Amino acid sequence: MGKVVVVTGIPGVGKTTVLSELEKLASERGMRVKVVNFGTVMMELAKGAVPDRDQIRKMPLDFQRKLQRKAADKIAGEAEGVDVLIVDTHMFIRTRNGFWPGLPAGVLEKLSPSALVLVEASVKEVAERRAQDKTRSRDMVLEEEVKLELQASRSFATACSVLTGAPVKIVQNPAGGAREAAEELINLLRDIL
Ligand code: ATP
Ligand code: AMP
Ligand code: MG
Repeated sequence: MGKVVVVTGIPGVGKTTVLSELEKLASERGMRVKVVNFGTVMMELAKGAVPDRDQIRKMPLDFQRKLQRKAADKIAGEAEGVDVLIVDTHMFIRTRNGFWPGLPAGVLEKLSPSALVLVEASVKEVAERRAQDKTRSRDMVLEEEVKLELQASRSFATACSVLTGAPVKIVQNPAGGAREAAEELINLLRDIL
C-alpha cells in the first residue's frame, strides 16, 4: 500500500489546481502518484441523489455522514499499487448545522495519513477566486468570513495532527503560484517516501 497524503484548504483556495500541477510534475519525475478527490467519490456514491457537488453540503447531516464514511472506505482501498495516494478534501465543511469535520476520527483511522497539507492563500485572493470561478456554485461570503474559515482550518488541522501523529505542512498558493506550490508538495512526497 502507498502512503496517504491528505491535502486540504478552504473552498476556492486552489487545492485542485495545485494538485493537477502536482500530477504533471510527478509523472515527469516517474513517481507513481494518484490523486483522488473526496467530493468526486461522494458524488459517485450518491448515484444521482445529489444534483451537483456544491449541493452535497446542503444535504441533511446524516446523509452526508453516511456518504463520507463510504467514500473514506473506498478511497482507503485506492492506495494499492501507487507510491503516494493524495486525497483532495477539506478540514471542515460549511453545513447548515455549522462547521462539520471533513476528517473526523473514524475517517482519519481509515485513511491513516502520513502527512496533512493545508493549502492557503490570502483572504483577498480566496474571495476573488470564489467570485470569479463560474464553474462552481460557491458560497459567497464576506472577506471577514473567509478570514474566519482560514483560522478554523488551522484549528481543525491541529486536531487531525494530534489524532494521527502526522505533521501539518502549510503550503501557500499565491496568485500565479500553483506550480511553485506543487513543487513544494513534491519535495514533501520525496521526504515521506
Ligand atoms: P474547492 O474546495 O471548492 O474544490 P479548490 O481549493 O479546489 O476549491 P480550485 O478549484 O483549484 O480550488 O481553484 C479555485 C479557483 O482559483 C479556480 O478558478 C482556479 O483557476 C483559481 N486558482 C487556483 N490557484 C490559483 C493561483 N495560484 N493563481 C490564480 N488563480 C488560481
Ligand atoms: P470539493 O470539490 O473539494 O469542493 O468537494 C465537493 C464537496 O464534497 C464539498 O463541498 C463537500 O460537500 C464534500 N466533501 C469533500 N470532502 C469531504 C469530506 N472529507 N467530508 C465530507 N464531505 C466532503
Ligand atoms: Mg477542488
